[in-house]
Amino acid sequence: MGVKDKPPVSRSRLIANIVLLVSALYLISTLLFPQWYSNPIPQVPYSLFIDQVDDGEVARASVGQDQITYELKTDKTEENESAIILRTNPVLDLELPKRLEAQGVEFAAAPLAKNNWLGSILSWVIPPLIFVGIWQFFISRSMGTGGPQGALSITKSKAKVYVEEESTKTTFDDVAGVEEAKTELTEIVEFLQSPQRFTEIGARIPKGVLLVGPPGTGKTLMAKAVAGEAKVPFFSISGSEFVELFVGAGAARVRDLFEQAKKKAPCIIFIDELDAIGKSRASGGFAGGNDEREQTLNQLLTEMDGFAVGDSTVIVLAATNRPETLDQALLRPGRFDRQVLVDRPDLAGRLKILEIYAAKVKLDTEIKLKEIATRTPGFAGADLANLVNEAALLAARNRQEKVTQGDFNEAIERVVAGLEKKSRVLSDKEKKIVAYHEVGHALVGALMPGGGKVAKISIVPRGMAALGYTLQMPTEDRFLMSESELRDQIATLLGGRAAEEIIFNSITTGASNDLQRATDLAERMVTTYGMSKVLGPLAYDKGQQNTFLGDGGMNPRRMVSDETAKAIDVEVKDIVETAHQQALDILNNNRDLLEAISQQILEVEVIEGSKLQDFLNQAQVP
Ligand code: ADP
Ligand code: MG
Ligand code: ZN
Repeated sequence: MGVKDKPPVSRSRLIANIVLLVSALYLISTLLFPQWYSNPIPQVPYSLFIDQVDDGEVARASVGQDQITYELKTDKTEENESAIILRTNPVLDLELPKRLEAQGVEFAAAPLAKNNWLGSILSWVIPPLIFVGIWQFFISRSMGTGGPQGALSITKSKAKVYVEEESTKTTFDDVAGVEEAKTELTEIVEFLQSPQRFTEIGARIPKGVLLVGPPGTGKTLMAKAVAGEAKVPFFSISGSEFVELFVGAGAARVRDLFEQAKKKAPCIIFIDELDAIGKSRASGGFAGGNDEREQTLNQLLTEMDGFAVGDSTVIVLAATNRPETLDQALLRPGRFDRQVLVDRPDLAGRLKILEIYAAKVKLDTEIKLKEIATRTPGFAGADLANLVNEAALLAARNRQEKVTQGDFNEAIERVVAGLEKKSRVLSDKEKKIVAYHEVGHALVGALMPGGGKVAKISIVPRGMAALGYTLQMPTEDRFLMSESELRDQIATLLGGRAAEEIIFNSITTGASNDLQRATDLAERMVTTYGMSKVLGPLAYDKGQQNTFLGDGGMNPRRMVSDETAKAIDVEVKDIVETAHQQALDILNNNRDLLEAISQQILEVEVIEGSKLQDFLNQAQVP
């Protein structure tokens, strides 16, 4: 049912080559055989022409400065295609118009060069073709790898680039391990199924939902499942496809896509790789800029703003793994104002995904999927699907009837080797360090109440950078923080590193982001909030006047004396070191608990809820 009529590149390349060849042949032949192309109209004396006019034999005449071409009357009943055409050199004859008129000759008519139709047609058609051919050639060179999709592809710019499926068979059952995302998208399904329920009460149905997550976690699959659950048509297009096109075509396609979708409402439009068109215009840089992308982006924004509330439910889902690069305009209310995180699955999630794919192959009875799930932290859904397939391939290669645990073990090694290059998979040693590090954060956070309640500890790699994470929930909405709360936060940030020091007696690079944030906080306490007793309630920075240079950067210092600068450094260092010591004390005092929780988390990868609270309640203040 999918339609995708984009002619393959090789075909347009072939056409371009033929055009070039024909043009070249034509050029050469005009040089070698000019007589083929010269005008072979026979010339007669002027007196004969006048005689013929007077005898009423001339049908039409084209009178020029130095030549008169004329056509003799022929017997119309005869299907004689080649009328007789003659020419003559005119003599200055003021009577000629009268003569022609008197005989009813049409004159000053269109050029009559009819005899040599081949030459004339070619001379009209070939030069533009040569031009097109040359143009094609240069464009294909300037596009580098793109190949000649240029001039000839203009004709296909009206082609659909999206894939339209009347209904997809994918449902939420095909997606596993991303339960939170599923819960959030269930709401979207309801919007699509019964929009009236929401609009009647005056609620605005969201237009855009952004699925954010690393590659292979099932964003595309999820979008399809939403369409499948709601039983609505699914239009999908990939952002990178827009970018390959010529100026204007991308925008036209967006328009076309939305037009078609509105006709089929309620439906879903899915834009994959949104970052390819939605990159921040500011970060696009000045180097050449990408006009095409910007026009496409603007068209997308216009379309999203354009569809009226209530009359049709078109929900735009988009996927990206780089949300931070997106243009802010895309994230405004009324556009992609909802974000759903589709993250890598935890142990339980991986098991469920494995079960889905294992059901499709013939498994040996003693296979333990749980064990496979345990061995594959950091695998995304696509990696797991790939893993099952690899194992099945291995089994088939060995001419086995069923896939065995041994096949899986070998497949894991293969897939891991591939993934390690992308540095997504933790070794056992790294996993252990991450576990203690995160539990360190959690324990310090639990005993330093200013930091917020610890809600979840996970050693499943999250997003692009973090290896593990500890999630703290602020107990209430906070606008003001006291000095002691800030100190608690700093200690919590240092808890991860402190745990590494205590258990492994060494420090890894994993804590650098923690240290950065801890030091920033301490510096702000001294220079912005005036919380240092030594330095007093002075603001040593210059406030936020220069936010246009980018948020989050450090404020510039006021002009301060060398002594003050030194005193600030000493104070910042003192705050951080005190907090570090607190963290060390707490962890030393609860070393058994640190061990116990870390062992537990190494087994299950995620601890949260009451189980986590039971653990943390055992912690003792030094
Ligand atoms: P993304 O769009 O996030 O890069 P895809 O949706 O294209 O990932 O996933 C690629 C394939 O991997 C899917 O077609 C599916 O077979 C498998 N897959 C990925 N995530 C999951 C998941 N959570 N549950 C089941 N299968 C998944
Ligand atoms: Mg995808
Ligand atoms: Zn940390």
